[in-house]
Amino acid sequence: MARSGRSPRSLETIKSEDPTKVCSECGSKDIEYSNEEFYCKKCGLVLD
Ligand SMILES: [Zn+2]
Repeated sequence: MARSGRSPRSLETIKSEDPTKVCSECGSKDIEYSNEEFYCKKCGLVLD
């Protein structure tokens, strides 16, 4: 059995590592991805 740390379960880890972005300014989850940046569609704040 291979134990290289790449088990199919890592999918769950990826999920938790990439949570839904939330705007730190207005708390909106309406985040758009453009030009390699996330920005809030509600208030326009660019998330890092
Ligand atoms: Zn916002």
